Parts: sequence; C-alpha cells; structure tokens
Amino acid sequence: MVVRGPWIYGGVLNRAQRPTLHNQPKDLSAGVMRESFAHAVSLLYSYAPRIIPAALTTLDDKTQVAITFDDGPDPQSTLRVLEVLAELNLKASFFLLGEKAERNPTLTQAIVRDGHSVGIHGFQHRSLFFSTTQFIENQLQISMDILRAASGTTPRFFRPPYGKWNPMMNRVLVRNGLSLVLWSCMPRDYALKQMSGSIVDFFNAQLFGGEILVLHEIAGSNERMENILVQLERALVTKRLRAVTLDEGIETRQQ
Ligand SMILES: [Zn+2]
Repeated sequence: MVVRGPWIYGGVLNRAQRPTLHNQPKDLSAGVMRESFAHAVSLLYSYAPRIIPAALTTLDDKTQVAITFDDGPDPQSTLRVLEVLAELNLKASFFLLGEKAERNPTLTQAIVRDGHSVGIHGFQHRSLFFSTTQFIENQLQISMDILRAASGTTPRFFRPPYGKWNPMMNRVLVRNGLSLVLWSCMPRDYALKQMSGSIVDFFNAQLFGGEILVLHEIAGSNERMENILVQLERALVTKRLRAVTLDEGIETRQQ
C-alpha cells in the first residue's frame, strides 16, 4: 500500500524520492550557504502540509492528471515533445523561461497552437527565493510580455524555479493575475538512467488521479522523454485517467 501524505512536494514521495539535502538534483546543490538555506526551507515545505497558501499542487477532479514540462522552450527538445504528445493524444502544460522563449518565439507558438497551456517559470532559471518583490515582479512582467507576444495568450500560471516559493511572491502573483502552481508527482526524470523498469514502477505505484506531474525539457534526452511519455500514457489508460492542461483542470476546479 502506498501511504499518501499531505506533502507539498508530493503526496506520494517515497523515501528515495522525498527531497533531502543529499538527493537534490545537482543543479540545486550550488554549495553556497544561501542555496543550502533555501534547500532547507524547501525541505521544510515537503514535510509541512498546506504551508504555502494558495498554491495549486493537485487537481480536484480525480479522473484528471496534469502533465507539466519545466525549463523550455528548447530548440533541441520542444518540437519532439510536441510530436510525441500529439502521437499519444496527450495534452500538457509548459512552464517556460522568458529568456528562452524570447530566443525561440516559434516554439512558444507551436506549444499553444497544439492546444497546450503555457505558464511562466521565471525569466532565467534562478531561484527567486531571496529576491525582492520588485525584482520578482519585474521578472514576471518581462516574461509575461514575451510569452504574450509569442503566443497571443496571457499566461495564468507561475511555477518558481526549483519550486522555491517565498511569501512575498503571493501579492505579486495576485497583482499580475497569476496562480502559483507547484506539483504533487515528480518522477525525477532528470536523474533517471537509461530507461528501465523504474519509470513503469513509478507510474504504477505513484501516479494517481488529481496529480500534477512535473517533467523537464532536457536537451539531448529526447529518447528518454519519449519513453517516459509512452509509459505515462499506458499508465493513464490502465488507471482510467485523462491528461488535461492546467487551464482545463483549473476550470473544472472552479466549477
Ligand atoms: Zn526548472
């Protein structure tokens, strides 16, 4: 039996996946004191139920799952991810970096054209944990302008880089019409070795209705991503779950 806890980082994290200071991905482990403190706070979130007010971490409709991709758009991955999603008939949401979207406007257009949702992941992939309100607002507005110009739609969702939220963000988000979206299910795709049964086991044991699943666009790992999505689609069919965009999932939530 899988024990479901109320952890912000995921109700379903087992011992291996639960974030610790030791198993954080390399890019989280800068080694400087400041980052370590932020990690400790992130760790605290994972053990403190509902500590982040107004954060969306799951969907209310337990027949739905929201697949999300962080860190794009990327010329080496986005188009392939879109192709695979189309082949599998899956809808997803992309948390994009303003800086990369500015360099690749056609990729942002392609994401929206295919019917996926777009959210903001920051302008650059830097923690905003210690940033001032003014700096955060500036980064969000620049990113929003870039994404709006490229996609023709106004982003509604924000996921801070590394999931590092601080209380000052909430007021900025409200002012800019953005909702904070974290996640409840993280297969740590960036750390997976060559595909094995592990991802199948993960989805079998840890994917449930209402989950917000986080994946990453990683240059040079298209084959791995394709495998993950194929296994994810199989798990969704087996569990009779439907992948929805955040726009759709949240609309359902508000009804
Ligand atoms: Zn990220």
